[in-house]
Amino acid sequence: MQTPRPGARGARVTLEMPVQFLKGVGERRAESLHRLGIRTAADLLYHVPHRYEDASTVTPIKEVEPGMDVTVMGRVISKGVLPTRKGLRIFQAVVEDRSGMLEVSWPGQSFLDRSINKGDLLLLSGPCRFYHGRQLQPREYVNLGSGADEDGGRVLSVYPVTEGLGVRQFRALLDQHLEGLLLLVEEFLPDTLRASVPVLPLAEALRRVHQPESVKAAMQGRERLAFDELFMMHVLHRRANAVARVPRHGITFTVRRTLTRQLADALPFALTAAQKRAIREISDDMCSSQRMHRLLQGDVGSGKTIVALFAAMLAMENGYQAALMVPTELLAEQHARSIGRLLQPLGLDPVLLVGGLGAAARRAAEAKLAAAEPLLAVGTHALITSRSAFGRLGLAMVDEQHRFGVEQRAALGAKGESPDVLLMSATPIPRSLALTVYGDLDVSTLDERPPGRKPVTTAVRPASARDKVLSFVSSQVAQGRQAYIVYPVIEESEKTDLKAATTMHAQLAEGPFKAHRVALLHGKVPAEERDDIMRRFRDGEIDILVATTVIEVGIDVANATVMLIEHPERFGLSQLHQLRGRVGRGAEESFCILLGSVGHDAYERLRLFASTEDGFEIARADLRLRGMGDLFGAQQSGAPAFRVADPVRDEALNVKAREAAVAILGEDANLGKATHAALRRVLGQRYARALELFRVG
Ligand code: ADP
Ligand code: MG
Repeated sequence: MQTPRPGARGARVTLEMPVQFLKGVGERRAESLHRLGIRTAADLLYHVPHRYEDASTVTPIKEVEPGMDVTVMGRVISKGVLPTRKGLRIFQAVVEDRSGMLEVSWPGQSFLDRSINKGDLLLLSGPCRFYHGRQLQPREYVNLGSGADEDGGRVLSVYPVTEGLGVRQFRALLDQHLEGLLLLVEEFLPDTLRASVPVLPLAEALRRVHQPESVKAAMQGRERLAFDELFMMHVLHRRANAVARVPRHGITFTVRRTLTRQLADALPFALTAAQKRAIREISDDMCSSQRMHRLLQGDVGSGKTIVALFAAMLAMENGYQAALMVPTELLAEQHARSIGRLLQPLGLDPVLLVGGLGAAARRAAEAKLAAAEPLLAVGTHALITSRSAFGRLGLAMVDEQHRFGVEQRAALGAKGESPDVLLMSATPIPRSLALTVYGDLDVSTLDERPPGRKPVTTAVRPASARDKVLSFVSSQVAQGRQAYIVYPVIEESEKTDLKAATTMHAQLAEGPFKAHRVALLHGKVPAEERDDIMRRFRDGEIDILVATTVIEVGIDVANATVMLIEHPERFGLSQLHQLRGRVGRGAEESFCILLGSVGHDAYERLRLFASTEDGFEIARADLRLRGMGDLFGAQQSGAPAFRVADPVRDEALNVKAREAAVAILGEDANLGKATHAALRRVLGQRYARALELFRVG
């Protein structure tokens, strides 16, 4: 028996309707649409082009030269599949526009012979090479079909598409439904707000995004959609924050100048101006009656620990306990040791609490925490497991905070009465963006490095230089130094030809590094063994550590002077920066070598990285090049994903969105007014849990 299909027989189409109920969408096509994240009719409407092309953006074929990266439009005049000596089959076509002809080549994609035909008009983008003449190797192409017209003067919307659903089919589907769906679109921004930004009405914006008359019109449409995303996120963050803060007044600390003064006097170095500023900001927060909720961000080596230590002393001189949570046992031990040294003149010793403690030691540590005596506890998530109760926690600090889930961070903050919260991060991001990602978290930034840190020499080397690079590593080890070698994956797979840590460890240990002590470290090595390997590396019992990015966080081995990274193009710049931060910690000159033959764009990216050690500049470049997702990993952001907006590129719009959110909540904190009913409804539709926030108060 067939289930009735809403929409099939004149039933009403709605925006929430599953996309397979739209006319022209069968089971198979629905599957393809799902792969693109399109589940409802509204998703279809919001699946916006990622690029626009018009006569002004394509290059006449005559002007294309080897070495250029171009977009051209041409009609197929011949085509065929060529076998090569190596057994690779190449699909080739010759395309023509008014100015000339060009050979186009798709190595290994002989299947295209079935879908690209003589007479089809193609839009192609990619690099042009010299191979018996000019040859374009498209990164991307759109088949406009044989009926399409080169100079319809139209702007072409290029959509992200997927297997089983080409651009042409997608556009046909959209053309069929656009008008109908636009009628259902509801304007949810109050008129006054819309006029003050200003942005286009929603339906008009969506129309322009899909069927623009000019690229400029498309951009105006896009701006409205981007504004909506940014605005709603600010509204949610602000509201979430207000709700979280209202019932929870914080502890009001007082600067007593006992422990804080003693720490200042005992420091073996002078604080940087940035550290002083951060300490002042934090102590102002702690001395107010509001609960502190602050992010301390600063590049690797900028000296965050000492700032955290001042906060801890302030809590302790007020009779409270402080806790510092870090992601690994090894880091916890490292911190406990270095903090112990700094606190020794004060006669204080941090309490270490990690999972690996013996039963007796653990009980002793837990007993100290449970007593209401002032102390500083340093540990892993063992600090938040239910058995460890704090007698009087006043300050909860989380280092490398992005390594923890939102719930784990919240769990530490939920211990004790209502402790002040300080999050720490080594991935500095621009302030406007921090506000976007963290909402109303206050931010302190260490934008200055302590003096005396040596620069790390960074070099990009092609694969052909491999032997030389490896013998350089050997020579460093021969001088008594240590090295890291990092690979993007643990094991080799048939899908890629990436070198993998496991296989390379075997090869290197048997071959070029036979004379050295080489160990392997990756995420699948059990945690205890991992910590053991790191301890041996720290103690100089291992010369070379072959690893994945597990070593990215916080490892501090001053004698390590080489960071060799293979397939560097597989890493984000911020990640490379973290890896580089593992060397240059001692007195000897250090090196970061990026080894691999990479494409033009990747090379430019790596060169930029090699040219600076400024974490802010690198984070910015990373964001520009790779977008938000990579930097914040899903677990970190907790922020709704942006489909259209890019808080970096849309910085000015983001500022306006934030102002608009502040204004609207200032006037109507619960969005209860009739003029805000539509906004409230849309928030609830887009962000499942949003409405809970507006039920309170
Ligand atoms: P991170 O911000 O990466 O956590 P740390 O707090 O671990 O940095 O500090 C890095 C190193 O710099 C430590 O050895 C620390 O003792 C040292 N340091 C911190 N502040 C200063 C300063 N003002 N002058 C000199 N050295 C400092
Ligand atoms: Mg640190």
